Amino acid sequence: MAADLVIRNGTVVDGSGGPVRRADVAVEGGLITEVGDDIGRGRRELDAEGLLVTPGFVDLHTHYDGQATWDPLLAPSSHHGVTTVAMGNCGVGFAPVAPDRHDWLIGMMEGVEDIPGTALHEGLRWDWESFPDYLDALDRQPRTLDVGAHLPHAALRAFVMGERGADPGAHPDRAELDRMALLLAEGLQAGALGVTTSRTERHRTSGGENLGTLRAREPELIMLASVLAEQDRGVFQFLSDSYRTTDDGFARSEFELVTAFARASRRPVSYTVQQDIEAPDRWRDLMALAGTLQAGGLDVKAQVAPRPIGVLLGLEASANVFTPTRAYRKIAGLPLDERIAALRHPDLRQRIIDGHAQLTSGPDAFAGYAFFGRFDDMYVLDDPVDYDLDAGRSLAAVARRNGVDPRQYAYDVQLQRDGRQLIYTPLFNFAHGNLDDVREMITSPVAMFGLSDAGAHCGQICDGSMTTTFLSLWVRDRRHRDGLPLEWVVHQITRRTAAHVGWLDRGLVAPGYLADLNVIDLEALGCAPPEIAADLPAGGRRLLQAATGYRWTVKRGAVTFEDGVHTGALPGVLVRGARSGPEGSTGVPA
Ligand SMILES: [Zn+2]
Repeated sequence: MAADLVIRNGTVVDGSGGPVRRADVAVEGGLITEVGDDIGRGRRELDAEGLLVTPGFVDLHTHYDGQATWDPLLAPSSHHGVTTVAMGNCGVGFAPVAPDRHDWLIGMMEGVEDIPGTALHEGLRWDWESFPDYLDALDRQPRTLDVGAHLPHAALRAFVMGERGADPGAHPDRAELDRMALLLAEGLQAGALGVTTSRTERHRTSGGENLGTLRAREPELIMLASVLAEQDRGVFQFLSDSYRTTDDGFARSEFELVTAFARASRRPVSYTVQQDIEAPDRWRDLMALAGTLQAGGLDVKAQVAPRPIGVLLGLEASANVFTPTRAYRKIAGLPLDERIAALRHPDLRQRIIDGHAQLTSGPDAFAGYAFFGRFDDMYVLDDPVDYDLDAGRSLAAVARRNGVDPRQYAYDVQLQRDGRQLIYTPLFNFAHGNLDDVREMITSPVAMFGLSDAGAHCGQICDGSMTTTFLSLWVRDRRHRDGLPLEWVVHQITRRTAAHVGWLDRGLVAPGYLADLNVIDLEALGCAPPEIAADLPAGGRRLLQAATGYRWTVKRGAVTFEDGVHTGALPGVLVRGARSGPEGSTGVPA
């Protein structure tokens, strides 16, 4: 009998990290049935001559928690070869939720993840209260890719403790701890991937408040850990400022807290590691901690990004280079075409540029606006975007070469492409002006691909495309410098991430595994410049980013994308908890 689909003559990179080989791949009933060179004709054949065949990518760090309840596409991830995402990261999400707390949760996501509140107000149907109800709501929505969800600590805390749950200074009493434990256990049984929390002051609600989880004390965290241990399932994900100490009198450091959590849960733990400009070597300590804990037999990984993480500035983005100036703010509310017309006026141009100079340099400069004047750290996004940044291409460097003032140049750049040109400012992972530290970070044995934050930071960050960059930059563009092996990179974004949360049914091109596949033209692989689209509910705006080089993406055996265009297929489902591998699979080590 003919297979549903045969991908013919491709170069198979199977996700295990093992060597590539030329082979055909047969797919039947949503699963890979055969990988070899003697496969009969399929009902549909894809010619992968000269192309890579990889497992679909697995991105564990997204924030599609709201969007996934209404949006079947889940762009930009789905355009970048991703066939499975995990959401509910960083302690934030939309369940459990008391009926009178909807607005508060929206305010939290709007502030922490920069997701437009109006879009959430209109898009969320709130046909859930408990976390298991939320999973059922996700289950009802068809989509292009599979989703799984963590149970977010901030939502759990507010659900159990009410107003006090949102207060970092308040702590649960015994009864509240017991109730949180019970709800987490129920969530895990219903299919939560694990539990997540936020311990960073950077995360604030739209009202500017810290999250209630910021200073959660050891008894509360250890309670969460012991539920994972009792249930013997689930992972823990968090991010932390990592250098502060808790205020519980014991002043145990964050490191000690992580260690205690990993010991108590005996489950996989991962935390965010990125290079901060202000503490450019701190990441080394965080990686070393994961190394020490791993050496002690604990599964602790550092979630890292394969490129700088930066903010996008532009007339359509949340902010642009001249947002702080009084002269710009007067026209900030105008529609784009009217703003462009105004900005072209020489008089206003001069006032805005002068105002900017006053705010960002000279004796009266305001430190809070320094960011807007760092032209050495600004890059004009070309098409395709080259994330292999180089100080010689910075806005300041180009302006110098052209003999113009960087402010004048930035002003003109923002007006290019009908006012849609974006300027990229790396905030993390670029402290020394090159990618040497990123390379060291991502190649550490304790590192795990993460931090795309896809679905979040709608108006200023667009990193859902990191899978594409991992391959195009580190495998192809740096091939003759310090590039990384193709097999290794594919493993990092497929089997390694899948195995971390126990999804042993995917991430490998081998018989019995899910037929989640990408057919990729590596030479053509690239990221288009991010674009602002007003396609969220209520006209909410977000950054989207297209890709080139993905010839086909296959999800559960169905072709979902062909040359970047959605075919209409919606084979994606909710993945509840861990998934065992095919019968007889030995389980390739993660
Ligand atoms: Zn996050």
